[in-house]
Order: sequence, then C-alpha cells, then structure tokens
Amino acid sequence: MTRYATGVFYHPSFSRRSYLTVGARLADFPAALDGVLRGGRVKLYEPGPVSRELVLKVHTPGLIEGVKGDPLCSTAWHSAGGVVMAGDKIAEGEIGNAFAFIGAGGHHSGRDFFGGYCCFNDVALCVVNLREKRGLRRFAILDTDAHHGDGTREIFLDDPDILHVCICGREYESSDKTKVDVGYPDPRGSGVGRPINDAYFDRVADRFPDRVRRFRPDLLFWYFGFDTHQGDYGDIGLTGPCYWNIALLMRDLAGEVCGGKLAVVLGGGSHTKLATYLIPPVIERLAGS
Ligand SMILES: [Zn+2]
Ligand SMILES: [Zn+2]
Repeated sequence: MTRYATGVFYHPSFSRRSYLTVGARLADFPAALDGVLRGGRVKLYEPGPVSRELVLKVHTPGLIEGVKGDPLCSTAWHSAGGVVMAGDKIAEGEIGNAFAFIGAGGHHSGRDFFGGYCCFNDVALCVVNLREKRGLRRFAILDTDAHHGDGTREIFLDDPDILHVCICGREYESSDKTKVDVGYPDPRGSGVGRPINDAYFDRVADRFPDRVRRFRPDLLFWYFGFDTHQGDYGDIGLTGPCYWNIALLMRDLAGEVCGGKLAVVLGGGSHTKLATYLIPPVIERLAGS
C-alpha cells in the first residue's frame, strides 16, 4: 500500500454551497492545493456522505431532522464524511496524518442541539467510528477556534478517554483534568509589547503537550478555526505564523506520543483570502519530513 505523509479530504460542495457567504470562503479550492499536491507526499481524497447509522450513534433522530431542514447544513453529510474517512485512512496506515476541509462545522453540535454554522459533530463521529471499527480508544483534542467547543464538550463530558483542551477565553479544568478551557493571553499584560502570536503559541505549548504526554492518546485532533485571525469574526489578533507553528507542534507531538496519528479538522473563519493564504502552508507543515 502506498503510504502518503498527509491526506487532504475535500468535496466540491464545500466551495460551491458551503456555509458563510454562500461558499466564498473556499472559493479558491481545490486549485489552491496544486502546490502542496506536487511531489507525491500529499494525497487528495473526495469523501462520500457519512452514514445515518453512524450519525445515530452520536446524535438524536430529532437533530438529524433539524439538520435536514437547515439550508446552512446542506454540506453536513459530506463534511462529517470527510473527517470520518480521514480517521479511517490514518488508522489503516495509508496516510500519516490528515487535513479535513468542511462545508459545515462540528464543534457547536451536541447530542441534540446544533448551531453556529455547525451541524453534525464531525470529531465525535470520527471518534466513535475509530473506536468501533479500529480499536482506538483514547483521543486528545486541541480546539483553537475562537469560540468554546460546547457541542464536543457536551458529548464527551463524562468520557475519561477524551482529553478536550479548548482555547476559548475562559479558564476551567474538570476534577479529572480531562476537560480544560484556556484563556486568551493578554497582549498588553505581562511582557509588554510581546507579539500576540508568540503569547498565544506559548500558551498552547504550555497547556497542551504535557497533558497529552500524561494522557497517552491513540490519536490527536486539532480543531483548527482561523476566525481568531486579524479581521475575521473572532479576531484576537493572530496571523499566519501562529497557526503554522501550531501545525508543527501538533505534527511533532503526534509523532512523539501516537505514531504521528493526527487529524486536523477545519473550523471557523470566513474570509476567502485568509483560507487561501493560511491553509496550504498548514498542509505543507503536516507533510514535511
Ligand atoms: Zn468559532
Ligand atoms: Zn472552551
């Protein structure tokens, strides 16, 4: 079996009828991937829809009906299908790690509620599939979208085999230390004039890797929203190098703790130019030797 460094999961509907400004955010894709697909280390996959049978293992029938009736969720089945397929290809060993595009988000989708541009909980569906089909059990999730991952938190609240670290502006740690929220650094706080990119990256590096080493997961997820970028709707002042450094940190951490198994799942962020500028360098770093 050919083994690729990185698999990229993308369906044409994500560019043509995705959420947020009628699909404009991924308007430059897949053409913007031409560079990273050269050289044979990265393979592009087109996912099918997630199965209803799998969705019912995470969500209620009522949520499925709600998703079916919501025009913002027209890409939900293929979005979750891509994340589930990414997990399968990593577990099979066909790819080392993955970047999954989505047309509809996941982390605001709980067992019986959804909203905030999220429809099905893609990460939760991937976890359930990997547990049932592949025997993987323990997962660590880093969520760097600007907003709290309330759906993912609810689904895994009582699951000690899920480490969920969410950088969302508030501070919280559960008594078993597997559910953690981390505040944003204050760019005007200690270390005056310190670039926010550096302060944010250091906060991730301080709060996530040691927890992951103690937790010993079978696979890592990075829920990557770029709504935290300057000028986007969750702007906290970040720019490209911050995300690219987190990509390297996550790739290396996965290499250290779980044989490189890392699935990066796209979250929030709305601007076409930012998607085109930020995402290919993330994939390049995932595929780097
Ligand atoms: Zn967000
Ligand atoms: Zn949070």
